[in-house]
Amino acid sequence: MDVSWILDNLNEPQRQAVTAPLGPLRVLAGAGSGKTRVLTRRVAWLLAVENASPWSILAVTFTNKAAAEMRGRVEAMLEQPLGGLWIGTFHGIAHRLLRQHWQDSGLPRAFQILDSDDQNRLVKRVLRELGLDEKKWPPPAAAAFINHCKDEMQRPADVVDDGKPARRQNQRIYAAYQRECDRVGLVDFGELLLRAYELWRDRPELLAHYRERFQHVLVDEFQDTNTVQYQWIRLLSGGQGDVFIVGDDDQCVYGWRGSKVENIQRFSTDFPGAQTLRLEQNYRSTGVILQAANALIAHNARRLGKNLWTDAGDGDPVRIYAAFNEVDEARFVAERIRQWTENGGQRQETAILYRSNAQSRLFEETLLGMGLPYRIYGGLRFFERAEIKDALAYLRLVANRDDDPSFERAVNTPPRGIGARTLDLLRDAARADSSSLWQAAMRLINNHGLGGRAAHAVRRFLDLIEMLDASTRERPLPERVSAVITHSGLRAMYEEDQADKGEMRVENLDELINVTVRFIAHIDPVIIGAEPTPMDWLNAFLAHAALESGERQAGAGEDCVQLMTLHMAKGLEFALVFLVGWEEGLFPHSRSAADERQLEEERRLAYVGLTRARQHVYLCHAEQRRWYGRESPQSPSRFVREVPETLTQDVRARAKSRTQTLTAAPPTAAAPGGLQPRQRVRHAKFGEGVVLAVEGEGYHSRARIDFPAAGGPKWLVVAYAKLEPV
Ligand code: ATP
Ligand code: MG
Repeated sequence: MDVSWILDNLNEPQRQAVTAPLGPLRVLAGAGSGKTRVLTRRVAWLLAVENASPWSILAVTFTNKAAAEMRGRVEAMLEQPLGGLWIGTFHGIAHRLLRQHWQDSGLPRAFQILDSDDQNRLVKRVLRELGLDEKKWPPPAAAAFINHCKDEMQRPADVVDDGKPARRQNQRIYAAYQRECDRVGLVDFGELLLRAYELWRDRPELLAHYRERFQHVLVDEFQDTNTVQYQWIRLLSGGQGDVFIVGDDDQCVYGWRGSKVENIQRFSTDFPGAQTLRLEQNYRSTGVILQAANALIAHNARRLGKNLWTDAGDGDPVRIYAAFNEVDEARFVAERIRQWTENGGQRQETAILYRSNAQSRLFEETLLGMGLPYRIYGGLRFFERAEIKDALAYLRLVANRDDDPSFERAVNTPPRGIGARTLDLLRDAARADSSSLWQAAMRLINNHGLGGRAAHAVRRFLDLIEMLDASTRERPLPERVSAVITHSGLRAMYEEDQADKGEMRVENLDELINVTVRFIAHIDPVIIGAEPTPMDWLNAFLAHAALESGERQAGAGEDCVQLMTLHMAKGLEFALVFLVGWEEGLFPHSRSAADERQLEEERRLAYVGLTRARQHVYLCHAEQRRWYGRESPQSPSRFVREVPETLTQDVRARAKSRTQTLTAAPPTAAAPGGLQPRQRVRHAKFGEGVVLAVEGEGYHSRARIDFPAAGGPKWLVVAYAKLEPV
């Protein structure tokens, strides 16, 4: 049989890997050297040359998207569907196993999977049952402890008592949480993996069956396996057999989730006789991009070390753009993408990669403004994120007490001890006389229709909303939103959430405040009217949020710009890549900068970012950024400096566009200062006027100015009004 097509376009070491004799094999190679290509071809080779049945193959990849792509490629190569072949993520495959063997796994048939939000909620309940104070034992921290134990294959009984009370308490929480999960048939993400492992460990007959079946095991992105995943593979293969793993220690970026780069090193010891192959030619990137990535990662001390080269030409320099601020950064990126498409480039060949999800917001806004379709991978769009919906629910209630969905969402977020029974009473009462929940609540309280404790809790919620409204009514929108986020308790709730997500959510809440600042600056005067009241501003903003969360994201098949975090970008490639927000504190993240190990993980993430690019890459950083709700000067990330200057080129904003940027961008706090009542000013459109009043300070200040030639007094946001003293 002619199998030359399987080996087409492979270099010698790649060919060796694809055609290697059966047995443990490790391919250790840098980014873009063809690891995934080799793994895919190996599957085809096993099927076509080794006569393996699709049934006997288990392939593990990192994301569902990658799994689907790999299956598609092999099916296309072999021109046949591969039904029996198992390919998926570790979690997906474990899930499949547990569904198939629910009884042997000790699970009810209809067991449900808990996502991390559900998990936090359940932990909370357990804490309450144990009589523990949530303040002292923040649920996300307890959840993180539980997840860590599971990653490390520890059941509550295995948790070693080191004599520290905190550990003992966490162990107790874990035990109670697990009892609760088992009682009602709930399985969290870590449990999927651990239970799948235990299933094989404790059922020798099942293990034998699967060992017999999965003669060939292949794993991509092996550097990011954690302990339980590693041991699961080891158990399945019995430390021998045909195990084909590919990985790059320089791309291990999930240390915070328990992945262990050591696993890729241990492999040669745990799988005796394992062969190691190295691929050194990079086929993805231009010479300059590759040199830049190599130079950057060389700053890490803990590496296996490798030497990547390419015979592609040098290509363009790495372009560095020092943006005036984050708005300018987004505009620059969108503008370059537009040029790219005007020159015939495809949008889907461009990616904007950021360190944290909150950064996506401004890019979404700017791309929308320019009519460039985009798609966000992994992670919800800004206005669909839970914390943003929480904040909007409060704002909507402030604007309209009868907004029932917002009432339902806000009433127990954060928890206020308003139980399901009380809520049912409210719903029934509202239904009975077709009123809103708010009105029903008022009535029930006044008529003593609720028990003492419940009545008190509901009363406090109603008072809170009234207070939020009354005390912020005269404030400019950004302050109003900020006050609502704080006094609703949302900020504190997410701040206490010590797991990674909590921090991200606080960042998103702060970004919501920034969104309002920009909203004010760019709103169409027709929408807001001549003399908007604060309530008009709020309503206009809520309408904007509702419209934005609508169907603006590009459809599935549409050619669109790709937006994602650096983590999500692993394994992918694009012709044109924008690496944005390369600033100290943002990237490397402030929480990682002090710890050498974490800093190295951040640097690997930077390496992943650079090596996604085939032809062009831009490093962008802003000199000022509104971040955490504040405007602050930023300095370029150390990673920018770690790319040798000989490989880079600064993008200089032309003088003209620079001035435009300066005037259109949110100015610094100092800019609006200096306006005094009775001062005379000139406005480009309204002509000369007299300042009647100034409200607020710095960034948020607005002024009421009488413009006789333009029909009388108007409120203007000083920062954007471009007023000139007369
Ligand atoms: P990463 O570490 O980012 O996951 P990788 O090592 O898995 O990268 P691939 O994605 O398999 O690399 O390959 C990178 C690019 O190089 C792909 O576009 C692939 O098609 C191409 N490529 C790989 N090997 C060859 C080859 N021998 N000839 C031509 N192109 C190749
Ligand atoms: Mg790959």
